[in-house]
Amino acid sequence: MQCPLLYRFRVIDRLPQKPSEAATRGTLVHAVLERLFDAPAEERTAPRARALVPGQWDRLLESKPELAELFSGEGAGERLAGWLDQAEQLVEKWFSLEDPTRLEPAERELFVETELDSGLRLRGVIDRIDVAPTGEVRIVDYKTGKAPRPEYSEGALFQMKFYALVIWRLKNVVPRRLQLVYLGSGDVLTYDPVPADLERVERKLLALWEAITLATETGEWRPRPTKLCGWCDHQAVCPEFGGTPPVYPLSVRPAESVEGVQGRMEPVRAEAGQPAALESP
Ligand code: SF4
Repeated sequence: MQCPLLYRFRVIDRLPQKPSEAATRGTLVHAVLERLFDAPAEERTAPRARALVPGQWDRLLESKPELAELFSGEGAGERLAGWLDQAEQLVEKWFSLEDPTRLEPAERELFVETELDSGLRLRGVIDRIDVAPTGEVRIVDYKTGKAPRPEYSEGALFQMKFYALVIWRLKNVVPRRLQLVYLGSGDVLTYDPVPADLERVERKLLALWEAITLATETGEWRPRPTKLCGWCDHQAVCPEFGGTPPVYPLSVRPAESVEGVQGRMEPVRAEAGQPAALESP
């Protein structure tokens, strides 16, 4: 949905991406918030959560030794200390938004997978699922960045509606609430979905997959420059920045020969107020 060419670089060419401090900090904070619930409710305090940060960083390094390159060279120790402190601050911020002594998550870091009637398979990892005594389900996702401006909140909620669709298909229950917890700005964004929302997401996903299938067959993946290009690892091979993409690794056929589909994939503005999304022509 963000940039077709970036999708190609990541999923088809599988170009390596450098680890980033921000993304790694997000992974670390998620690990701490998950592990905190191992403790009895009354012990889930902010100091305890902060104290989990260094140990979880060690575990992360063990599983991904390449992350060590983030903090190498001159001043590395100081930068690492500052970075860990930022992670601790984000963890502490969470206590002003939710009270873990009053929560007993039904699931944490839950891998979910389902297949739609069309055969399209959806997968994801949900940060937390709470289930009320009434059986109502709340899906919670932590973000270490800042909450989007209101005009972009629909885009942020798309991921949550995706999870809600998966849970609906798996358990036959429409989640009562979707909750995004933004630790960077201290905001909580909620949305109570109805079946029509999730049916709309399903249609959008099918259109997206149709567009991806077409682009895979034709090799036509268009760049879509936005300010997110600043975070893209692949500017050197992106035509928007004077680069040349690597040779397409799959065999292609012209778009006109792809039966039943006319035109070609390009990013379009899907709905007013939403960020541009890929849709089949
Ligand atoms: S630099 Fe921008 S336009 Fe180019 S691939 Fe990356 S996100 Fe897409």
